[in-house]
Amino acid sequence: MNKYPNSAFEKYQGLGMTSQRTRSRLVKRLKDKGIESSEVLSAIDVVPRHLFLDEAMASRSYEDTALPIGYGQTISQPWVVAKMTEWLLDSSIPVKRVLEIGTGSGYQTAILALLVDKIYSVERIPELSVKAQDVLQALELENIDFAISDGHWGWPEMAPFDAIISAASPSELPVELVNQLKEGGRLIIPLGDSEQQLYGFEKTATKLIKTCLADVMFVPMKQGIEA
Ligand code: SAH
Repeated sequence: MNKYPNSAFEKYQGLGMTSQRTRSRLVKRLKDKGIESSEVLSAIDVVPRHLFLDEAMASRSYEDTALPIGYGQTISQPWVVAKMTEWLLDSSIPVKRVLEIGTGSGYQTAILALLVDKIYSVERIPELSVKAQDVLQALELENIDFAISDGHWGWPEMAPFDAIISAASPSELPVELVNQLKEGGRLIIPLGDSEQQLYGFEKTATKLIKTCLADVMFVPMKQGIEA
């Protein structure tokens, strides 16, 4: 990957607490915490996370923490974004078309947009989706389709997907997501309510191989779309 994916990235590099130097310190921290994929680390190094947060939160953009983005939701912790992306890409099939549940701020979407061909991103809160679309457009990331919908149903019209990633935690694995995953593909999703674990699933011809990857805290996967 080039240092800057396009000229828009150069424009939004940031200053001081949002500068390239601060972002690179986060990358170093993620490496120390066990993230190995150089392509994931380079994506985190170039994506201006501060653009996905409100002004008041910008100075904390490169801390390795989840932060509020309004509507009771949060931008995912960078380590979690890195871990999920790394695991998803380490697949036995080429990862080209990815379904994302929970667009949220659009930060995870931006990281993926630099690493795969096409992302289908679903969000149930229209205001969040619109805000994320504005930022991703400003960054000139054009390989993303958005839907306002309930992620429990996946995105059947666009299936099958090479990989599926969810940033919202249902109590049980939604069967539609498994149906819409290609054979050989990977699905990564937190499961549980007050206690959650991050699970990776690999779909083979005959079964689903389940791996527990970490203890995590995500927002719940809610039913329906927000009116
Ligand atoms: N990766 C995003 C995470 C946002 S938090 C980021 O870093 O910003 C998870 C998001 O999932 C929230 O925006 C929430 O509204 C959304 N969500 C929750 N339940 C959902 C559902 N059933 N369908 C689609 N999105 C859902």
